[in-house]
Amino acid sequence: MEIQKLLKNKDNLKPLPDESCLGFGIHFTDHMFRMDYSDVKGWHEPKITVYGNFHLDPAAVVLHYGQAIFEGLKAYRGSDKRIRLFRPKENAKRLNRSAWRMCMPQMDEDAFIAAIRELVQVESRWVPSLKGTSLYIRPFIIASEPFLGVRPAKKYIFSIILTPVGAYYSEGFNPVKIFVTDKFVRAAKGGVGEAKTAGNYAASLMASEEAKKLGFTQVLWLDAAQRKYVEEVGTMNIFFLIDDTLVTPALSGSILPGITRDSVLTLSRDWGIRVEERPISIDEVMNSAESGHLKECFGTGTAAVISPVGSLYYKGKSYEVNGGKTGELAERLFDEITGIQYGEKDDRFGWIEFVDQAGS
Ligand SMILES: *Cc1c(COP(=O)(O)O)cnc(C)c1O
Repeated sequence: MEIQKLLKNKDNLKPLPDESCLGFGIHFTDHMFRMDYSDVKGWHEPKITVYGNFHLDPAAVVLHYGQAIFEGLKAYRGSDKRIRLFRPKENAKRLNRSAWRMCMPQMDEDAFIAAIRELVQVESRWVPSLKGTSLYIRPFIIASEPFLGVRPAKKYIFSIILTPVGAYYSEGFNPVKIFVTDKFVRAAKGGVGEAKTAGNYAASLMASEEAKKLGFTQVLWLDAAQRKYVEEVGTMNIFFLIDDTLVTPALSGSILPGITRDSVLTLSRDWGIRVEERPISIDEVMNSAESGHLKECFGTGTAAVISPVGSLYYKGKSYEVNGGKTGELAERLFDEITGIQYGEKDDRFGWIEFVDQAGS
């Protein structure tokens, strides 16, 4: 794939933000990637251009019928200054699965990774070095064809934007308070819950706003049919350490198949921990919390890697997990995964891809 580069003049580049207060998704880099699709030409004209607005027709399908999917991954700068990507091939595969589900065009996995590589290389000065910081990569596809009517669009834009993000735990782990909702649901089996598609997040806003008003950080979602089985926490997958067994809901069709989830399962199995992917009911979670068998609970996702849960609130009752403190396994998993991402630990599973490729 030949990527055309239409870059800014060196003296027009944006000043870099302070690495100690980057936040998340606030600053955007100087350039972006863009490639167009039409049913006639397929994917064409890949280019890196100056970061800026899209020209979209007000009738663009994405604005009315929500054909939109995205991915999220990060570029990490190691102490050796080299920039690493973590399992980008998995993002490529998942983008294609989301595309399939939303009747959108798929793309070549290697082209997806090549586009990320080239863009991050162009923007390498934006990859921060401070411990725990990274450059968040947001690839996405939207339906751009101007057409009112419900059928798959014939034109799409694939784009990648980049935003430097701060350390999630600059002041140490902070176990979160979770509200278990049995009123709202995120996704139903047969629906689009396992696709990373825009509408899922719009659908989740009401529940999380309600939870926040009540003083909670995140919502724990139950299954749509029975409000009985645990699904996810906020926009993360969820894990429970019950006695010595690590339990996470099986991928049932309504759960997003997280890459961090898969990494946690792989590492835990490798460490000899008993792991179960199975339906887990909210009653089982609450009973094991009450009887002292629930040792740990944490969410997993690219943004935070591991997010320890300190308490769960369900049907008017609050249940503390591990005395509201971060558990040993959560800490160990966090250290191992971030260690691999920043090149401080051995990449035993071949998860790292270097952006510059040399020596990889
Ligand atoms: C992206 C996402 C996750 C986490 O996936 P990772 O690949 O681990 O970042 C989990 N749940 C939802 C709903 C998500 O959108």
